[in-house]
Amino acid sequence: MKVLFISPEAVPFAKTGGLADVAGSLPLALKRLGVEVYLVLPFYRMVGESNLEHRLIPKELAVPFGDGALTARVWESMTEAEVSVYLIEREDMYDRPTIYGNSRGDYYDNFERFTFFARAALSMAEMLSIKPDLIHCHDWQTGLVPAMLKGTLRDKRTLGDPLTVFTIHNIGYQGIFPAEKLRLTGLSREEFFHSEGLEYYGNISLLKAGIVYSDAVTTVSPTYAREIQTPEYGMGMEGILRYRRESLHGILNGVDYRLWDPARDPHIAAQYSPGNRGGKQVCKESLIRETNLDPALIKRPLLGMISRLDAQKGLDLLLKVLEDILALNVGLVILGSGDEKIQQSIQEATERHPGCVKVTVGFDEPLAHRIMAGSDILLIPSRYEPCGLTQMYALKYATVPVVRATGGLDDTIVPFDNETGEGNGFKFEVYETKAFLDTVGKAVDLFQDAKAWERLMANGMREDFSWERSAKQFRTLYELLTAKH
Ligand code: ADP
Repeated sequence: MKVLFISPEAVPFAKTGGLADVAGSLPLALKRLGVEVYLVLPFYRMVGESNLEHRLIPKELAVPFGDGALTARVWESMTEAEVSVYLIEREDMYDRPTIYGNSRGDYYDNFERFTFFARAALSMAEMLSIKPDLIHCHDWQTGLVPAMLKGTLRDKRTLGDPLTVFTIHNIGYQGIFPAEKLRLTGLSREEFFHSEGLEYYGNISLLKAGIVYSDAVTTVSPTYAREIQTPEYGMGMEGILRYRRESLHGILNGVDYRLWDPARDPHIAAQYSPGNRGGKQVCKESLIRETNLDPALIKRPLLGMISRLDAQKGLDLLLKVLEDILALNVGLVILGSGDEKIQQSIQEATERHPGCVKVTVGFDEPLAHRIMAGSDILLIPSRYEPCGLTQMYALKYATVPVVRATGGLDDTIVPFDNETGEGNGFKFEVYETKAFLDTVGKAVDLFQDAKAWERLMANGMREDFSWERSAKQFRTLYELLTAKH
């Protein structure tokens, strides 16, 4: 089985979020299961600036674009795990400081950049005679690939006859652009621009193109797969997703335990494991010192939060109950980056409580690891959460997650039951301050019961969300599709 991954981001080449972790780790897990995987990405400036090795393929790529064609160069690289990676280079499109835009907003030509990328990825597969059995696309940036394969490239035998899988990592990003731009794609208006095609309230939606024209759609957790078929979570795409529900699959993301395991984490003050948990207390003391919090907190619960600062993540809920949470006599450490307004309000609210709260604004990978290891409780009160990775990391670090029951958070966290000793965290249903505060209160109460808390931490550390399980589900899906084909 030969699979071509087309993704706008993948670790270690380019990352803005969880998608990059998935596109970086899943190919390796699939390779271990015997799937032959190729990955294609744009050649962003950060790729050139990295010390990742790459070599130029000495043949220029001609890519149909609008009424004409544009050229691109293709570089070949390889991940540590020897997955072949192809990088599409066009300086005017991808040689920029960031991937999608700057603090003033998205780049004005993102439609052109990702239409070109989609078409170039297919031209590259032809040029290199890859002939994949299946093409796996990720998010709106690649949504045109399945459409192109159903349109202009329908009879192109040079590509083989690949099936397509389209993965939705977050339905909130829909790739919406003006209808006039359709001519750049080579797709005919009659065939594609209608309500059952890629038209979306008079515009083009590239996310919708991916949903409509792929052979199967996946998203990153079983619960999110159900949620996005409802008006509350579907963000306008619920109708088309319900229409495609037979082909929609929720497959939970995995954790890369090479990077997130307290037994071998180089960023934390002391390493620890299920059999030897002593290092966790050292990590907590070290975090309290580093953040200048009150040393008395060593015996009290220390709450952590590591999050993009986005309305999705439930920070409004946290701000509303901040005083009440602190009244529980706990400490709070927050690491976040993103929305400037949210950032400001958190900073203002927390300035009033030095010694109890520490907020760090920015993207800081090592600090994220230190908070993960040093906190007792991790707060994830998301409004919606397609999968969520931090709750799965927290379990491994014996940090107890308090989550809202939505998406992947609901699929991975089981409330602790002190009678049976089963469960791995705490969760609340409705997106309301009282429910959140009550649940934090329960966690703080249980913290006083050392024996129960030990059990809860041990339950979490035993969980296994490694990629292997998810990769097996993807392989089964690929096999089912190709068998039907
Ligand atoms: P999302 O993809 O919606 O941001 P996930 O929970 O799936 O949420 O993934 C978030 C990832 O980004 C985790 O690896 C988390 O540790 C990391 N992260 C989020 N904010 C920061 C930050 N400010 N600094 C460092 N890492 C962060």
